Amino acid sequence: MVNTVWDKLTESEKKKLFDFNEEYRQFLSISKTERTFVNNSLLLAKKAGFKDINKIKTLKEGDRIYAINRGKNLCLFVIGNKPLIEGMNILGAHIDSPRMDLKQKPLYEKDGLCLMDTHYYGGIKKYQWVARAMSLVGVVCKKDGTVVDINIGDNEGDPVVGVSDLLIHLAQDQLKKPGAIVVEGEKLDLLVGSIPNKNKKEPVKGYILDLLKKKYNISEDDFLSAEIEVVPSGEVRDYGLDSSMLLGYGHDDKVCAYTSLRAILEMKKPQRTSCCILVDKEEVGSLGNTGMQSRFFEDTIAILLDKQGYSKNIEINECLRNSMMLSSDVSSAYDSNYPEVSEKRNAAYLGRGISFNKFTGSRGKSGSSDANAEFVAKVRNVMDKNKVMFQMCELGKVDVGGGGTIAFILANMNMDVLDAGIPVQNMHAPCEVVSKADVYEAYRAYKAFLKDMK
Ligand code: MN
Ligand code: MN
Repeated sequence: MVNTVWDKLTESEKKKLFDFNEEYRQFLSISKTERTFVNNSLLLAKKAGFKDINKIKTLKEGDRIYAINRGKNLCLFVIGNKPLIEGMNILGAHIDSPRMDLKQKPLYEKDGLCLMDTHYYGGIKKYQWVARAMSLVGVVCKKDGTVVDINIGDNEGDPVVGVSDLLIHLAQDQLKKPGAIVVEGEKLDLLVGSIPNKNKKEPVKGYILDLLKKKYNISEDDFLSAEIEVVPSGEVRDYGLDSSMLLGYGHDDKVCAYTSLRAILEMKKPQRTSCCILVDKEEVGSLGNTGMQSRFFEDTIAILLDKQGYSKNIEINECLRNSMMLSSDVSSAYDSNYPEVSEKRNAAYLGRGISFNKFTGSRGKSGSSDANAEFVAKVRNVMDKNKVMFQMCELGKVDVGGGGTIAFILANMNMDVLDAGIPVQNMHAPCEVVSKADVYEAYRAYKAFLKDMK
């Protein structure tokens, strides 16, 4: 029989596991975008005693600090009793997820209906995103500097919106198309209204614009400077008749982000400084000022070094070189409906613990970040000492495909990095699935890493 996390749990551990997952379920249900994830994480961090980096003059052991970048990245630190230049233990995960965004000129009226044009974000199977309830979550930034929060579809009594799909009765031509173009990107337009205001030139669009003006005090031009994400409506749900799994939007990679966050919030006085970074834009290449490739991270470390009395220009390289990281991103969970894409011995399975990928990339390890064997051995040792169950795996058969994470960016800074994460079924679909056992085991793995890696 195969060993799973479930097999080794005592009754009291099982209760802790379910309680932890219920907290995650509630958190993810209200944290579907980068901005909401950062805001809700910040509430937890402040409650756990974390202070704004800009309000701290000098650093001392045990200090708890946060830094925020443009509302979309969060960096947390618990200062260790060793100096920063001896390196940090870092957990990193991304908090952006595949979705649709409203275009900058989204609204139009056609055939007596009002629609909104979208632009998809990240790698999606477009046919999965039609004929389902969607919410609009984001911000509208007005010229006068005010920022209007939009959140429609997830509060009680809210309406939802959605993209139509062609009825089966008339779809015989559509169904002959290859999957990639069964639904094309420009067909992902949302139906948002159907009541006309007969005094307007465009009656149905006019009605919606009036409504937006009244409710949010925004006008059509304000969409030019808006970021509104179109995400699946509704809460994350218990999944399986035994409620052993969670089904919901955004596990990639918010499940690793949440477990990393919880791990650092519980750190008290570590030997080496603990760090947790939650970043944006991984799904589109980690570029831009809120992606992992932004200078934000190094800049923040430089500020910390300065506050600890070091020269931030010289000693930052020493700090980075001595740091160690678990770059956490979800793995593909073995799927018995599609065994042909996995090589069974090296696949990740639901319920068997946190998964480590020595390397990522595709085919002949192209584009991979490959952890050094010496470092993998150290991580194994810490996991075994803390009785954390892990599985070493690859993403699919060697010739089938592959993927990348933020690991290479930190590895390029000359620190040791190992890809870690939680196995997911239906990755990048509107409803992804994780095992509660893996969620809990990852959280335990992160705590062990922060506490014991040296
Ligand atoms: Mn990911
Ligand atoms: Mn992804």
